[in-house]
Amino acid sequence: ATPTALLVGTGRGAQLGLLIKGPEILESTRKVDTIVLDKTGTVTTGRMAVVDVAAEDDVLRLAGAVEAASEHPVARAIAAAAEERTGTLPAVDAFVNRAGLGVEGDVEGHCVQVGRAALTGSTPQLDAARADAEAAGRTAVLVAVDGAPVGLIAVADTVKPTSAAAIAQLRALGLRPILLTGDNQETARAVAAEVGIDEVIAEVLPADKAAVVARLQSEGRVVAMVGDGVNDAPALARADLGLAIGTGTDVAIEASDLTLVSGDLHAAGDAIRLSRATLRTIR
Ligand code: ADP
Ligand code: MG
Repeated sequence: ATPTALLVGTGRGAQLGLLIKGPEILESTRKVDTIVLDKTGTVTTGRMAVVDVAAEDDVLRLAGAVEAASEHPVARAIAAAAEERTGTLPAVDAFVNRAGLGVEGDVEGHCVQVGRAALTGSTPQLDAARADAEAAGRTAVLVAVDGAPVGLIAVADTVKPTSAAAIAQLRALGLRPILLTGDNQETARAVAAEVGIDEVIAEVLPADKAAVVARLQSEGRVVAMVGDGVNDAPALARADLGLAIGTGTDVAIEASDLTLVSGDLHAAGDAIRLSRATLRTIR
């Protein structure tokens, strides 16, 4: 291959809003046939907001106090809503982040857990409210106080306005799109349906995202992965082509081969088209 054509390709990439780590990366995109997309912050904006609270104000306040110690988009939404509704939040002790599950800590002498049912436990009533929220594409977060599940907070994210068209474009390029997320099955399915993806791998712990990519590779797939979060970094590094969302975390950008500067998923299709065109020039 003549490096000149690859360098020209890299320059063209910059015009398209693609930061390409090295010219040789264009070569590795050639055989990509599968594109794994993280949900939160990649297909969706990741700017979450609390849309429903089925809990006493006191419970929301305790939940907000623990979430104030977390950087997760779900946590930011809950802490903001709690502060808005109940005022300055109390301090948290013994804070623990349980990756992919939620958070826990001690607030005003109570042990408070906030997150998935696997962490907090649930009740038939909370399960019914959770099913409703999830069917609507929301993330249902449960709150337990001193070991008893006592509330539910529904958090909504919105699909990026460009995602559905960008995914149609990826399909037109012959790629198989897969939605990968730590979020629950139902919420993930609702979001996938909204953007035209029919393959969903949900409830994947952060540590297991890279293993999902490896499994697809062992089935003979050549995998591109698009992600934004700290928890996507190992999967981005493992993928044959890692694409980071430019508005995402530095860790994800560092682990990737290519950055989509604006965060618009159309740039993923542009990258693959560019690489195919560049390599056609060379051959
Ligand atoms: P994603 O893959 O969508 O970025 P994560 O792996 O970070 O998601 O989290 C998976 C799920 O774990 C979230 O959808 C949420 O239900 C729960 N979760 C994670 N962190 C928190 C938190 N700080 N508070 C409440 N729930 C959380
Ligand atoms: Mg994400």
